[in-house]
Amino acid sequence: MRDNFSSKTKDTLFKRAGGRCSNPNCRKPTSGPHTETNKIVNIGVAAHITAAEKGGPRYDSNITSEERKAVENGIWLCQGCAKLIDSDEKRYTVDLIKKWKEISEEAALLDIENWDEVHSKTTNDKEIIRFFSQCFDRPAFQDKFSQEGSNEAFDKAIEDTIIAINTGCLRDRNGNVLFKSYGKSYLLDFE
Ligand SMILES: [Zn+2]
Repeated sequence: MRDNFSSKTKDTLFKRAGGRCSNPNCRKPTSGPHTETNKIVNIGVAAHITAAEKGGPRYDSNITSEERKAVENGIWLCQGCAKLIDSDEKRYTVDLIKKWKEISEEAALLDIENWDEVHSKTTNDKEIIRFFSQCFDRPAFQDKFSQEGSNEAFDKAIEDTIIAINTGCLRDRNGNVLFKSYGKSYLLDFE
């Protein structure tokens, strides 16, 4: 039997992600108006982090049915990203998906906390670009490639930087927040 999420759980996941896809490299809005005035268009899904039923992606037999359909086991994604995580379980691990969820909820929180500041005259594109340059100001991008510990460390730095630019939150290798600013969607001239 599938441990499906309740409508309330789906709604909670949707709202905790700020209504956007929780893949930090995506963050696509997932809902909008339908032509019929009392309906909405939704392209988001409440995806299971560990599968809803045996045989599904990332299934965990050690958790209960209740835990399987709890908010903690869900992530809000756009349809494309939901398909993506289920097509390659080795790449999209439970740990990675949980990290996406944490980063996206943090980004959604920054959005509501910083909204007024972002829309006042004190923040402009120059400040955001300055944040981006801070993101690139790290040893992994400056040492000669031969001095960098491994390709893996370099790849990790690239990944962290892309996430920082998308979410406005730069973290070190251990997940601690180094700088907070605004993601690229705040750039006025960003296309
Ligand atoms: Zn997505």
